[in-house]
Amino acid sequence: MTEVVNSASMASLLMERSLDDPELAAATAATPDTPVLPDVTVLKIGGQSVMDRGRSAVLPIVDELVDAKRTHTLLIGTGGGTRARHVYSLAAELGMPTGVLSAVGQAVAGQNAQMLGHLMARHGVPVVGPAAFGVIALHLAETRAAIFPGMPPYSLWQRVPGAGVLPPYRTDAGCYLVAETYGCRRMVFVKDEDGLYTANPKTDASATFIPRITVDELIERDLPDVVVERPLLELMRTARHIREIQVINGLRPGLIRRALEGEHVGTIISAA
Ligand code: ADP
Ligand code: MG
Repeated sequence: MTEVVNSASMASLLMERSLDDPELAAATAATPDTPVLPDVTVLKIGGQSVMDRGRSAVLPIVDELVDAKRTHTLLIGTGGGTRARHVYSLAAELGMPTGVLSAVGQAVAGQNAQMLGHLMARHGVPVVGPAAFGVIALHLAETRAAIFPGMPPYSLWQRVPGAGVLPPYRTDAGCYLVAETYGCRRMVFVKDEDGLYTANPKTDASATFIPRITVDELIERDLPDVVVERPLLELMRTARHIREIQVINGLRPGLIRRALEGEHVGTIISAA
C-alpha cells in the first residue's frame, strides 16, 4: 500500500515539479534499489601496473582469473597505462580538449581488453564493449566471465576537470561505476603494490602500508599521492551498492582468489 502511495505521489511530483526538486528526488528514492548483477565481482586489471609489465605479470593473472571463474562470476575491466599516458601528453601538447583525450584514452583501455580477451578466448571469455553491455548477462550465464575496457565511454562528453585537461574519470572510475550501477558484490583493483601506502612506495621508501581507511579519512589525510584515481573517492560517497573497494597486489600469487572469497588482503577503502 505504501508503495502505491509513494509511486502515485512520485508520478504527480514528476508531472508538476522541476526535475531538480528535492522532494521529487526523495520520492524517487522511496523504493529500494534493485541490484542488477548482485553475484558478480568486478575486477580491474591495471594498465600500467599489470598489463604494461607483459608476460611475467599478465600470464599468471590470466591463470588465476581462469581458475577463479570456476567458482565466481567475474566482470574484468582493463586499465590504459603507459600508452594512455603517452597519448594524453601528445593530445594535451596539441591543445586538445578533455573530451578528445577521453576518446583516445578509451581506445587504449580497449587495446588492453582485446589482448586480455585473446588470452582468455580459449576459456570462452568474450570482450564486451560499452555498446554490447546489454548482452553481458548472457555471457556471464554462459561462461562466468567477460572482459570490458575500463574507461567510461564519456568520450567527448567527459567532465572537464578544475585544472588541466586530463579526463578526471578514467579506468578506475569506469570499472567502479560498472560495479556500482550493476549492484555487484565486490570491486577489486588488481595493481602492483600491496595496497594503499602513506605515499607512493615506488618513490618514497618511508611510505607505510594502510590496511583499512575510510574515504573521509583518506581525503582528510591529503596524502601526496594515492593508489586509485581521486575522483573515485567522491563517487564512493554517494554509492548505493559498492560502499568499499579493495586494492590488491596482482603480482602476488593467490591474492585474487583470497579477495574474491572476502578475505582482507591488500587495502580496503570504505565509504564510511
Ligand atoms: P593502474 O595500472 O590500475 O592504472 P596506477 O599505475 O595508476 O594503476 O596506480 C597504481 C600505482 O599507484 C602503484 O603502482 C603505485 O606506484 C602508485 N601509487 C601512488 N600513490 C600510492 C600510494 N599512496 N599507495 C600505493 N601506491 C601508490
Ligand atoms: Mg591509473
